[in-house]
Amino acid sequence: MRVRFAPSPTGHLHVGNARTALFNWLLARHGGGTFVLRIEDTDAERSTGASEEAILEDLRWLGLDWDEGPCRGGGHGPYRQSERGPVYAQAAARLLEQGAAYRCFCTRQELEADKEAQLLSGAAAPRYAGRCRQIDPAVSQRRAASEPFALRFRVTAPSVAFDDGVRGRVEFPGAQIGDPVIVRADGTPTYNFAVVVDDAAMAITHVVRGEDHLSNTPRQILIYRALGAAPPAFAHVALVLGPDGKPLSKRHGATSVADFRERGFLPAAMVNCLALLGWSHPDGREVLGLEELAGAFTLQRVGRAASMFDSRKLAWLNAHHLRAMPPERLLAACRRELEQTGYLVPGDAAADGWAARALSAFAGQMELSSDAPAATR
Ligand code: GLU
Repeated sequence: MRVRFAPSPTGHLHVGNARTALFNWLLARHGGGTFVLRIEDTDAERSTGASEEAILEDLRWLGLDWDEGPCRGGGHGPYRQSERGPVYAQAAARLLEQGAAYRCFCTRQELEADKEAQLLSGAAAPRYAGRCRQIDPAVSQRRAASEPFALRFRVTAPSVAFDDGVRGRVEFPGAQIGDPVIVRADGTPTYNFAVVVDDAAMAITHVVRGEDHLSNTPRQILIYRALGAAPPAFAHVALVLGPDGKPLSKRHGATSVADFRERGFLPAAMVNCLALLGWSHPDGREVLGLEELAGAFTLQRVGRAASMFDSRKLAWLNAHHLRAMPPERLLAACRRELEQTGYLVPGDAAADGWAARALSAFAGQMELSSDAPAATR
């Protein structure tokens, strides 16, 4: 089994994405598989090295180590899409040659006009009208010398169906899919194309991701087939909502893993809380460590319903994990707070034994490591 987490480095790791990373990691660890980390940075304008660094740091803090990926290497690299240009170019050339892809010379104005016309005639979701679909290959080649063009994938299947690991049988009529752009006029691959080329090249067997990608899946399956590769098993996990039932967003306060780390939450509590967003333990137990989670995790126990993220639940779990820590680890988890408030002097190891014992005695009254100074007062 080979699974992957494929974040776009356009910001911090948020609760929803961290849950996706965790489910993939748990699936790999449960099945003795390989967890691959791939950075999807084809959007050069929005991707930053700083975001990539922040995501790697968040994953490390959560304890989600990767077997292949940036800083680690592996036999299927490189693991940043920005470094894989030749792989996409080769796959695109193959599809063009096979006739599975064609050059599209439509201008932005033409595409806009087609879209307007379709909307006016009552289409719910406009799709590519097909102007360049039938251009003779020789003519297309000639025009390519002087006109900018994108590459589109030719969708011919009447429908695409697959068995989703969470949602069961899913089917999309081909007419709804439209011919997606796979390479933009500037030569960069689109998400739907790069993700398939990479998952195939990296021999990914299972893809667990957010439900927002469900409608991309039929396009991706068709591209797999055209490339002669077997699609992986897909599982689309329902969205994470805030306590008010609306999609989790900044309005709900802290939503990034870094925010919670800053506030003094333990990584063990964070992964525990993330795991319960859609998954449940067969025995109904809620307080679980990473090892226990990996031992018990299966996709069969991931529900279809949207889950709710509540930071009060996270705090409750945090209190449990603090209480279960051996004294030295508890002290390590609270050291920053104790030093910042002057309860411990940095470098004064003589006080450690006393501080660890005091903390353990009061752990039952603490919810966060930031409660440590007050608890030991
Ligand atoms: N880079 C995509 C995202 O962050 C990955 C989606 C996928 O897993 O295919 O949404």
